[in-house]
Amino acid sequence: MSQGTTREQGCIFCAIVAGQAEASVVHEDEAVVAFMDLHPVTPGHLLVVPRTHAVGLEDLDRATGAQVWSVGHDLSRALRRSRLGAEEDQRHGL
Ligand SMILES: [Zn+2]
Repeated sequence: MSQGTTREQGCIFCAIVAGQAEASVVHEDEAVVAFMDLHPVTPGHLLVVPRTHAVGLEDLDRATGAQVWSVGHDLSRALRRSRLGAEEDQRHGL
């Protein structure tokens, strides 16, 4: 199942997804990548981004959009259990 992955020049999230920028990746699958925010707003601030460049949720197909939320949800629960605090951000490209 290979969905087309688009990259945008100058997009930090695309660079991280491509392994061209440093990030503490905590989850990775065929649709999304999750990593610690470099400038955390809260302890345990995570970003969950689709592998495909997107500016908003409406740019994603339903399956990818659902996976972003699903992973964010799972990680948020894991973080809360680890008492780091839970704050996830599903935006990509802001
Ligand atoms: Zn991008």
